[in-house]
Order: sequence, then C-alpha cells, then structure tokens
Amino acid sequence: MTRKRVLILGGGPGGVVAANNIIRRLRGDDVEVTLVDKTGYHVFQPSQLWVMTGQREPDDIRRPLRLLERKGVKIVVDEVKAIRPENHVVNTNTGELPYDYLIVALGSVPEVSKIPGYEYSVCTPWTIEGALKCRKLLASFKKGSIVVAPLSWPYKCPPAPFEAAFMAKYLLEQRGAVEGSNVTVLHFWKEPMEPFGPSMASAFKKFMDMYGISFIGGVEVEGFEDRHVVTKRGERIEYNLAIAVPPHSPPEPVANSELGDPSIGGYMKVDRRTLRSPKYDNVYGVGDVIAPSLGIGMAGVFAHFQAEYVSSRIVDEIKGAYMGEHYNMSGVCVMDMGYLGAAVYCDFTRRIMSGEYPDCVILGGMKAFRAVKYAFERYWLDKWF
Ligand SMILES: Cc1cc2nc3c(=O)[nH]c(=O)nc-3n(C[C@H](O)[C@H](O)[C@H](O)COP(=O)(O)OP(=O)(O)OC[C@H]3O[C@@H](n4cnc5c(N)ncnc54)[C@H](O)[C@@H]3O)c2cc1C
Repeated sequence: MTRKRVLILGGGPGGVVAANNIIRRLRGDDVEVTLVDKTGYHVFQPSQLWVMTGQREPDDIRRPLRLLERKGVKIVVDEVKAIRPENHVVNTNTGELPYDYLIVALGSVPEVSKIPGYEYSVCTPWTIEGALKCRKLLASFKKGSIVVAPLSWPYKCPPAPFEAAFMAKYLLEQRGAVEGSNVTVLHFWKEPMEPFGPSMASAFKKFMDMYGISFIGGVEVEGFEDRHVVTKRGERIEYNLAIAVPPHSPPEPVANSELGDPSIGGYMKVDRRTLRSPKYDNVYGVGDVIAPSLGIGMAGVFAHFQAEYVSSRIVDEIKGAYMGEHYNMSGVCVMDMGYLGAAVYCDFTRRIMSGEYPDCVILGGMKAFRAVKYAFERYWLDKWF
C-alpha cells in the first residue's frame, strides 16, 4: 500500500474523534494521521457553563492535543491560513501540509468582539474567557434582572441559552438572592426551541414556567447599551446582568476557500448524505463548520457521529471494503437545569433529507440527568485522551 496522508483540521470533538478512529483502525498500516489546531487544546465546551457557575476551572475541561501523540497522531500546533483543495494542500502560518484525505473540522467562531456594548455588564459562556467574566459578574450580583440573549442564528447548541437561564436562576436561589430578581430569555424565536417543533416548545415552556423563568420571543437584539438591551426595532429593555450568545462566523480559511459557500454564510458545503465536498472527493467536513449546509443546529454530538462516519469511510476506502452506511443523524443534549437535569433526543433524518421538523423527545427532568451530564464529561475526556 502506498503511504496515505490523512490531514485533520481542528481539534474539537469532530477532529479528535476522527483522529482516534483512524489511528486505531489503521495503526501498523502505512498511514500518517496529522491533526492541526491553533490552540493545541481540546475543550469540552458544554462544561463552559460550569466554568460560568464556578463548578469547573478552565483546565478541568480541556486537554492538550499532544496527548494524542502517544497513540501515533502527529499534532501540529499552528494556525490554518488557507485551504487549497485543487492542489491537495493546506497552508499554515509556518508551512505547507500536503494530504491525500482532508477532514475539515474547524468549527465556528463565536465573535465576542461583535457583541455591541460588551462592556455594559455583559458576558458570554460561549468562550472560556467569557465564562470567567460571567462568573465574576454573577458573584457580585445582588438582585435585579438577568437576561439571556442570543444575537443571531446559527449559534452553538440551540438549547444552551435556556440551560444558562436555568443555571442562573438556580444559582440565585442557592445564594438566597432570588427575592427582587428575575431571569428572562430574550430570543429571536417566537417560541422556545421553535425550529425543533411544537412538542419541544411546549416542553421547554413547561420547565420555564415551573421554575419562574420568563420568555420573550420575537426579539431581535442589536446590542447592549448602558444596561439596556437595544432591539433592532429600537426598544430598550433594562437589565442588571446580560448573558449573551455572540454572533458566530465560519472559520476564515473555510470562508475564503473554494469549500466555503456564500449562500450559507461562507460555511462549508457538503453532500448531505456523504459529508463530502461536492467538488473534491477526498475532502470531507464534520461538525459546526457544515451545520448550515445540513440545515441543522451546531452540536458536539453531531460532530462526534459525523466524525465516526467520515473516519470509517476513509479507513474503508484505504482498506478497500466500504459498506456504504449512512451516518447517525440523531443527537442527544443533556442539560443541567440546576433543579433537575433533562435530555433532549432528536432524530434529524427527516430534517436533513426533507426539511421537516426533527423527531424529538425530552427525557427527564430528573435529578439523575444531572449525574448523567457529569458522567459524560468524565467519559469524554478519558475516552479520547
Ligand atoms: C456553552 C456551550 C454549551 C454547549 N453544550 C452542548 C451540549 O450540551 N451538547 C452538544 O452536543 N454540544 C454542545 N455545545 C456545542 C459543541 O461544543 C460544539 O458544537 C462542538 O464543539 C463543535 O465541534 P467541532 O469539532 O465542529 O468544532 P470545535 O469544537 O469548535 O473545534 C474547532 C477547533 O478548530 C480549531 N481552529 C479553528 N480555526 C482554526 C484555524 N484557522 N487554524 C487552526 N485551528 C483552528 C479551534 O481551535 C478548535 O479547537 C455547546 C457549546 C457551548 C459553547
């Protein structure tokens, strides 16, 4: 067999699962697996909400990617600057990486600098630094209004703003600061979890009513000014602390390459059955960077299942025994709501194939699901590193 070079861009769940699977199955064969990431760390992002509440420190929820070198994966800590699929080459800050197979798993970029008025008691657990800012603001919060406000779609983890609201409310209760305080989700959706269908909307409403969290739908947030949310219609809504979800952008090297598609905001276009670039047979995409192309939300669980599929496909191509199975188009999201935990399970097959609502059920809420979330975090960080 001639030596095959598999190049993986990004060390989030998509990149890390793909690297592990390929090296596990092809170790000993003449294959080189290289993973490039500009930070050198894998972050378990769902736990950024626990960094916000002080239950985790940043180092508890990240692992150095270099740990994968023990398994035989070559790690390059460098920034991808350009993807040139026509030449089978990726350019980084320091050099050029040629490949036979490319997996693009560069995620999406939460643009904190694009939150107007971020200095006005606004924070965001969509980044680790932002989660630490939330922790500081929450620690000094005495009473008043907390708002949770996404600025635009798409953003990572559609239910996470609701989870952040539950956690904020729970934290106030535990600290005896609930008197004179309220928590409100301001969302551009008209109903909670609107794209997931009426059953999810009513399940979320029920939980929010149960714990006294308000929802105001149809609010398009422009930014924050002097402790007021400013909407695109010019309304001003007062708050004392705002937890924002930043606008997200595609990674620049994707948007600026032939892989990016302007009709989906510059995110990567893939064939929805094979996750392959429609133009380049040896280029695949997984995770957040392809979510707009599939018409689904951004979630680690999708990145995980897609990476399992893409890596099996590449291994089978190299070994010459491809079975032709589809990837698992379902997702589970476990939420810590403070009081209880709950899991949302959705099968997106109909959504991806014909644009209908996904088939969703909400499992829980039960205290037990909080334990599931803790256990999953441990499992994840132990399993892949
Ligand atoms: C608060 C919060 C809660 C969440 N909760 C859940 C949940 O409960 N369930 C769930 O399934 N998902 C959840 N998610 C979403 C989940 O974390 C993401 O969808 C997932 O991490 C996407 O994986 P990915 O591999 O596509 O990209 P990412 O994890 O974003 O990884 C991309 C990697 O690429 C690297 N990179 C980017 N650009 C470059 C470049 N130019 N050069 C080199 N490297 C680069 C980055 O450093 C990063 O390591 C949550 C996210 C947040 C923020």
